[in-house]
Amino acid sequence: MMIKDNFLQFHWYQKPTYSGRILNFWSQHPISQKIGVIYELVDKAFLLSHPVFHKKNLKFIIDTLLLNDFPLDFIFANIKKRIYTIMNKPTQQNSNVNNIVRGNIWFTIPYIRGFSDRFKSIVNGINRRISFFSINKLNDFIKVQKDPLPNETKKNVVYRIKCNDCDVTHVGQTRRKLKTRVNEHRSHIHWNTSSRSVITDHRLEHNHEFDWNNVDILDCENFYHKRLISEMICIKTQRNSLNLKTDTEGLDQSYADILDKQCCT
Ligand SMILES: [Zn+2]
Repeated sequence: MMIKDNFLQFHWYQKPTYSGRILNFWSQHPISQKIGVIYELVDKAFLLSHPVFHKKNLKFIIDTLLLNDFPLDFIFANIKKRIYTIMNKPTQQNSNVNNIVRGNIWFTIPYIRGFSDRFKSIVNGINRRISFFSINKLNDFIKVQKDPLPNETKKNVVYRIKCNDCDVTHVGQTRRKLKTRVNEHRSHIHWNTSSRSVITDHRLEHNHEFDWNNVDILDCENFYHKRLISEMICIKTQRNSLNLKTDTEGLDQSYADILDKQCCT
């Protein structure tokens, strides 16, 4: 941001650490995502900076895209399309009306090249729009040097709580912070509630205490249904389980048989 002739001028600023690395054109992502990268860069260059910088920013975008293997004709075609859209952008009021009328319902699936695209024709017939998410995230390969999170603040985990006085364990899963869920288990004994807790039952019946400060994380999984399956597998593979039989009812019998055999060997 700078002041020129008593007016504020904005320019697109890159940090000194900016590496120029963006989504590579040859990576396994849907083409729509690659177009989205170009649109995002064009929006930044044209909507956030003063017109005197537009030419310089446009050159910067093209250079960045070329460094990430985008073909020149693809770059020009999509920059042109985006600039045209920006120039002919409807007013805020009109765009709100359009959004209401469209009322899109999205169908989201993982992107696998040559396979996921085939769903487009299927979804078109049922009044849904398809969107993809990528299995391989850059974040999985390039780690910023941050301190790892302490276990108790992790989310979306399958965990195991151990009894201090015998070998029973209890496996559960939570979307929230592990600490929050463990505190619930711990304080349940003081609640005036009719809801049952196998952990509270064990504490009262045997006068045992659990190792609340050393809860194991057995798996981290963001998807709820995958996490449930992981939880059931972990419940099944416990040596002396405190979990109820109903906790693993959702596990298909074929998996249960394999796990039973594995536990016996
Ligand atoms: Zn015990």
